[in-house]
Amino acid sequence: MINLATFDNTYARLPERFYAKLPPTAVSDPKLIKLNETLADELGLDVAQLMSQGGLEVLAGNDLAEGSEPLSMAYAGQQFGNWVPQLGDGRAVLLGEVISPKLGRRDIQLKGSGPTPFSRMGDGRAWLGPVMREYIVSEAMAALDIPTTRALAAVSTGEDIVREEILPGAILTRVAKSHLRVGTFQYFAARRDADGLKTLADYAIERLYPDCKNSDQPYKDLLQSVVSAQAYLVARWMGVGFIHGVMNTDNVSIAGETIDYGPCAFMDDFHPDRVFSSIDQTGRYAFSNQPRIAHWNLVQFAQAILSLLGETQEDAVAVAQSVIDSFSSLYHEAWLTVFRSKLGLKTAEESDEDLINGLLKAMTNEGADFTLTFRALSSDGEKKLATQFQNRTDIDPWLEVWKDRLAREDVEETKRIALMEANNPLFIPRTHLIEQSIKDGLAGDFSTMERLVAAFSKPFEKQPENADLANAPKPEEQVRYTFCGT
Ligand code: AMP
Ligand code: MG
Repeated sequence: MINLATFDNTYARLPERFYAKLPPTAVSDPKLIKLNETLADELGLDVAQLMSQGGLEVLAGNDLAEGSEPLSMAYAGQQFGNWVPQLGDGRAVLLGEVISPKLGRRDIQLKGSGPTPFSRMGDGRAWLGPVMREYIVSEAMAALDIPTTRALAAVSTGEDIVREEILPGAILTRVAKSHLRVGTFQYFAARRDADGLKTLADYAIERLYPDCKNSDQPYKDLLQSVVSAQAYLVARWMGVGFIHGVMNTDNVSIAGETIDYGPCAFMDDFHPDRVFSSIDQTGRYAFSNQPRIAHWNLVQFAQAILSLLGETQEDAVAVAQSVIDSFSSLYHEAWLTVFRSKLGLKTAEESDEDLINGLLKAMTNEGADFTLTFRALSSDGEKKLATQFQNRTDIDPWLEVWKDRLAREDVEETKRIALMEANNPLFIPRTHLIEQSIKDGLAGDFSTMERLVAAFSKPFEKQPENADLANAPKPEEQVRYTFCGT
């Protein structure tokens, strides 16, 4: 047993019905694919131990670090709107919590670590592709400074996974502010377990939103905190063209982090209705639908904690409604802030919304690349922009309006460019690049993944040696569908 850190496992202290305690299932031949040394260091983990054979055994679930108390969490959720009363960690084990001097308390969880009492029909495992994807995309998200769970490590298990074909197994070590989900609250609400629900809400407040403790309406404030965090998060996704793909209530973090990178994608050519997930037939989780779905998910959260929001049903509904009603304006303001920065605007004008929408419309009409368009506007100038807009009918008049608007900002050109470059990434984890890295990984070559992770860790910096990774996919490289990949 190795010693990685001092664990302080508060979730394991909660009542037994909150989880199933069990260790991960051992695997035959674990190999390290990638270790996030920077994150390990920030977490205050013993990096040398983590990199040793003993560390690998922990990351593979073959051994436990000292102080670890492994458990799988219980939760429920609506999947594509359909209620499922029991989901839970079907292929994940929370190893425990560490307190990092830099980041605060963090969960460390293995994903793909074997069957649990919540596995239902699943095998409890993950294959290499989704593990690599989650590592690459979640770390890219963190580098974009968008709230997200993190990837500490990826290991291969040496075991075969049966999907539509036989694939190599892998395990991701995920780090999160907490793994509490809307679905965790729904689990207790659905069982009419008032004590469990209150215990969970108090736990969430203590751990994530301690300021609520000082309020005379702590649960209302908890709801408000969760609503605000989601409004901010989704606005940030919209600002980078990110489509989560499975915004089920069990994939909505109470901490406001992006969680569960399944069939997610960053858009290349912009269209507001873009959907990537092959199972999202109706476009429920389409790009432009994300704020509406976030609102819907928050209504489910409010519903779940309703009994805590007032003495009478009537009072509770009134409280819930008032908080839920704040989502639209919070989201709208966050969205405006995000896009104003992307357009180099520090001040606010009434007409900014039309300005932003005008550009998005021009991009839609021309199928302009989301990332490259904003980056070209930042600094690379009109020549680069021209490659995105062959037809100038919409963009030329828009550019005139934007330039007039910039003139009213009274900011030096260099400062405006700096602001825009800091808000418009050059490098995003494009799906065709991830797919290529998985193909190479399947052939035993992880150098593409290494290269992507390194490039995406500095998304705003020009990196001449990685210039090809900033490009939009060529038509033959374009990926239109992503798969859940469980
Ligand atoms: P996800 O789509 O990853 O959010 O997972 C939805 C639910 O299915 C969660 O309860 C997962 O734990 C469970 N699940 C997904 N894949 C597997 C698997 N291979 N084995 C067991 N449970 C799984
Ligand atoms: Mg999930």
